[in-house]
Amino acid sequence: MRILVLNAGSSSLKFGVFDIEPNAALSEARQVFKGNFSRFGPEGCDYTTGIPDRHVTRAPYISLAEATDAVPLALEKAGMDGIEAVGHRIAHGGSKFAQAAELTDQVIEEIRSLTALAPMHNPANLQAVEVARRVWPYVSHWAVFDTSFHLANPARATTYAVPKIWRDAGLRRFGFHGTSHKYVAHRAAEELGQPLRDLRIISLHLGNGASACAIARGESMDSSMGMTALEGLVMGTRSGDVDPGLFGYLSRQIGLSIPQIEDALYCDSGLQGLTGSSDMRDVEDRAAAGDPDAQLAINIYAYRARKYIGAYAAAMGGLDALIFTGGIGENSPSMRRRICDGLEFFGLKIDHDRNMAVTLEGRSATQIQAYGARVNVIVTEAAEQLMIAHEVATALGAPAKQQMSIPIAVSARHVHLSRAAVDALFGPGYELTPDKPLRQKGHWAARERVTLHGPKGDIAHVAILGPLRSRTQIEISRTDSFALGIDAPVRQSGALDGTPTIRLNGPAGSFDTDGLIIAARHIHMSSDDARQNGLRDGETVNVALNDTGRGLTFSNVLVRVADNAFTEMHIDTDEANASGISSVIEGEINGAVVLQHR
Ligand code: ADP
Repeated sequence: MRILVLNAGSSSLKFGVFDIEPNAALSEARQVFKGNFSRFGPEGCDYTTGIPDRHVTRAPYISLAEATDAVPLALEKAGMDGIEAVGHRIAHGGSKFAQAAELTDQVIEEIRSLTALAPMHNPANLQAVEVARRVWPYVSHWAVFDTSFHLANPARATTYAVPKIWRDAGLRRFGFHGTSHKYVAHRAAEELGQPLRDLRIISLHLGNGASACAIARGESMDSSMGMTALEGLVMGTRSGDVDPGLFGYLSRQIGLSIPQIEDALYCDSGLQGLTGSSDMRDVEDRAAAGDPDAQLAINIYAYRARKYIGAYAAAMGGLDALIFTGGIGENSPSMRRRICDGLEFFGLKIDHDRNMAVTLEGRSATQIQAYGARVNVIVTEAAEQLMIAHEVATALGAPAKQQMSIPIAVSARHVHLSRAAVDALFGPGYELTPDKPLRQKGHWAARERVTLHGPKGDIAHVAILGPLRSRTQIEISRTDSFALGIDAPVRQSGALDGTPTIRLNGPAGSFDTDGLIIAARHIHMSSDDARQNGLRDGETVNVALNDTGRGLTFSNVLVRVADNAFTEMHIDTDEANASGISSVIEGEINGAVVLQHR
């Protein structure tokens, strides 16, 4: 199927045509046309086309609106007909849009209502939507949101420490560039030959807008942009992080109004504010020629990015890969060097020759880390359009509400012990006594119990589930983590690297071990059930609950397929309380597959 993607930014209109089949893998999408109107001025604009060779010509359009109107002509000239769907990049989707949404009148109104949160972007995006719906009235139009990928961020990353009444009014962090961060994380995992869910990645999207994103095990965990696209890194014309106290100061001391301050932070700050040019090529050239303002701007730019790398590596408890993308990330070896230099202490070092030799032909993702460095460093193209086409094809190919019913079981806190743990807690060679069989074949709850000991308090009589495992794992709820006073990460069973340590107490002694987790919700599924319902091991689905009286959908539920599994979903006690589940109830999988885990 042929999909047109329109990416109307604040200062450019990029568009592309992709041939991709519904539900095809990302690598199977083929771009057949690429166009970009940019650098608008009274004399017209630049028009760049061509794959892979770029041809730059001049076009007479003086504004984004004129250029948008000209897209059909540009496509016609290139012989691009047969458009079957249109995907639109939409900057802000608020809290509502976790995936691509068909652009109905109602969805358009909802996007319009978010304009105050993305004043530079949403209106331009909607302008393109309006033109495209007029030109291609008989195909479906889809919104793919920059914010969707970050909706999985935990509350501690999205919540501002401000009065409740402000938070109730919707003040929170969202994060942007999600489509780009999601794509490059996939591309990096592909390049490294490792599943995304095993990786801790920091992605730096450095274009006119710039953001850093912490991607832990395939999910966005934090992003440097906040409620608006103003927070975070230094950008072309945006300030990034500033002290919010400057509003009061500037208003009292200089008499500036809030709109004036805001306008300057969006349009006259960043590289522009520091040097008079928002273009990194100019700034680098001027710095090399000795301009002290340009030199300071480059130092600030790199320093801010490096601070975010440190912060996100700490937030994720380590780092496996750093990705550079966006015009600056892709094209400026010196900026990549400046950002990475000094990070050797945590295993991040780039190789000079590899860094200088980066080419981004095709879908290349080039590794530039020094040989033997622990952290991989990858440069790859920000292929937002391709990702948008893929999301649209996936949405169009999604099975219409394929449903199956599965039982949901509530997992109370429990431990899985290793041989060494049993020896320490119950005495050398002790054999646990299987008491109750569990529904997963061969698994049982033991008669013995242990006590969890944390800096804030103890939790006694904790169940032990057998058989023994090679590594001890302790599964608690978020509420338990506060009772113990230890922060536990949400992890899939077995993904224990970098998890916190805890002391277990038993009748014969104590055992200190890592492996403390809050178990991520998951579904055990037999191979037969998976086959019948078109699901694969490692996919994620949404599960809508019925019968609870309080409608609730669990998103991002991992499906784990095994031949002899008993099909059943496991949630923890906090999730059960939130949804009003007391024991086992029926749930429904709605078949919405989340692409990032494919
Ligand atoms: P947008 O966010 O509008 O998509 P881009 O991703 O195209 O922006 O990035 C634009 C930025 O990339 C500009 O600051 C530009 O100067 C910078 N850039 C492009 N090529 C180079 C280069 N060779 N060296 C340094 N910076 C570059």
